[in-house]
Amino acid sequence: MKRLLVLALAVTALFANAQAYPGSKPISFVVPFAAGGPTDRVARDLAQAMRKTLPGANFVIENVNGAGGTMGATKVAKANPDGHTLLLWHIGMASTPGLYRKLQYKPLEDFEYLGMVNDVPMTLIGRPQLPANTYRDFENYIKANGAKLNIAHAGLGSASHLCGLMWQSAVNAKVAMATIPFGGTAPAMTALVRGQVDVLCDQTTNTTSQIESGRVKAYAVTTAGRLTNHKLLKDYPSLQEMGLKGFNLTIWHGLYAPKGTPAAVLKQLNEALKLALKDPEFIKKQEDLGAIVVTDNRMEPAGHKAFVAAEIEKLKPLIEAAGKFAD
Ligand code: ASP
Repeated sequence: MKRLLVLALAVTALFANAQAYPGSKPISFVVPFAAGGPTDRVARDLAQAMRKTLPGANFVIENVNGAGGTMGATKVAKANPDGHTLLLWHIGMASTPGLYRKLQYKPLEDFEYLGMVNDVPMTLIGRPQLPANTYRDFENYIKANGAKLNIAHAGLGSASHLCGLMWQSAVNAKVAMATIPFGGTAPAMTALVRGQVDVLCDQTTNTTSQIESGRVKAYAVTTAGRLTNHKLLKDYPSLQEMGLKGFNLTIWHGLYAPKGTPAAVLKQLNEALKLALKDPEFIKKQEDLGAIVVTDNRMEPAGHKAFVAAEIEKLKPLIEAAGKFAD
């Protein structure tokens, strides 16, 4: 009888342990940009997919926008490492060290890497009233009128900022377009559609439906070649094809926890992430928007961290070269 009681207690303890995370407390995905933008969209779709394999998990999306994503990243770096505050960010993790003189976090030291989510091409788009209908006309128009035009972005160090700088540098459009920062590319897109700003370079996950409905003009994709597998974007040239030698920018999203999060929690989260990356519904949503879900070792914490470390090094000289186009 006594033995049975001990066994029952042990099983209860084991069960309680297994149930300990996530428990009833929500898991907050901190998105460091405005709601309705591409990073927000990935976070919402990913949370929905991860909920399927983390039974009982209650995800909430917290939009902490500002300073190109660094405000949200800082919040997570300093959060309680209990697995209930995670960061869903993008290439900003690797571009901000080159773009900010002082950051309140160290990208490779202050986070536990959970894994990468997707690779996302970008699209160069313009307000619907721009006279140019092809990339070549657009480039000529910018070169001739740049001083009167502006380019929107999601803050210093954001993907749209990086893309805009690299593009202006590559075409050598020393035209000093004014740059207009927003809290994310959702509000930047609204301003573009309304004709309040002229140019935006944004993830295909945000531009595809706007291009399809004719609310913006699309000129080119930022990948080395065309996106031949995408029903809509295959019709747009790559910047390389248009003569911008070596231009190749694909951004990515990854998931991070604060340093010190318990190993068992990290393992559970990584398992749920990997299952989400194999979820046909999630894959289809991403592919429809031009994104490619990760299938290689970057879905593992070590693989993703090594990739980010390499990205930081790769981006440094590009940022330096493009820096002269920054405000
Ligand atoms: N696309 C944005 C960027 O430029 C971020 C966002 O709103 O998701 O980084």
